[in-house]
Amino acid sequence: MKKLKYISFLVILILTVSCSNDEVKTDDPEIINKTTYDISPILTKFVGTGLSYEVNGNNVTFTTQDLPDHTSPYWPTDNTLYEEYNGTNADWRQNPGSIGAQNIVLTMTLNPAEATNHQATGLGPIGIARNGVVFFNQYAAGNEPLTGEINSFDQWLGHPAMTTYHYHIEPTWLTKTYGNDAFLGLLSDGFPVYGPVEDGKTITNSDLDSYHGHVGATTDFPNGIYHYHITGEDPYLNGNGYYGTPGNITR
Ligand SMILES: [Zn+2]
Ligand SMILES: [Zn+2]
Repeated sequence: MKKLKYISFLVILILTVSCSNDEVKTDDPEIINKTTYDISPILTKFVGTGLSYEVNGNNVTFTTQDLPDHTSPYWPTDNTLYEEYNGTNADWRQNPGSIGAQNIVLTMTLNPAEATNHQATGLGPIGIARNGVVFFNQYAAGNEPLTGEINSFDQWLGHPAMTTYHYHIEPTWLTKTYGNDAFLGLLSDGFPVYGPVEDGKTITNSDLDSYHGHVGATTDFPNGIYHYHITGEDPYLNGNGYYGTPGNITR
């Protein structure tokens, strides 16, 4: 019995010591600079066919069929959204893919913060646009530049990989519908993505950090938030990896 009491005392002592180690030391500059945001105000902007989201604690889980809400030559020809290519790229050529319903589930934090170790983005979905279509990074298969793939982007600058429709660059349907400076979606680290214009000025890579974002006020976050911008030049959406910690994506 005495031994048991002694062990309990030790356990309590260890817990007390480890808890006090977790306390935020406000004189630590690393911690002072770590700002945590709350992205829950923008969730209601996610509207699309086969798109839903659910909040669990401080995480949000999006489930999407990844179906664009706009026309494309990649829809099956009997779909009402099927439309022949009518964009401006003289080198346009259709790839062999087509738009098909997916089951992609993205879980991410509602309270994003800068990661200590920034992770690279991978091939495949890295985030979700407000219409439920997934974002891909600035590389084609084999981590090749997009140079060749760009010629298969449809009139709204998306295209499928097999049956998975996605945007690597500005989704012009969304900027036409909501504005060049509008909220376009989220990367899986929970940080928002905005269009190529801010306060009437076109954003270029030189306005952004190596992850392709910066901190500033937006219409949705008047107190300021770290956010990515889609620009008209490579790397378009994300630069050198996630600014925050990416969540989980299954497909
Ligand atoms: Zn692609
Ligand atoms: Zn900005």
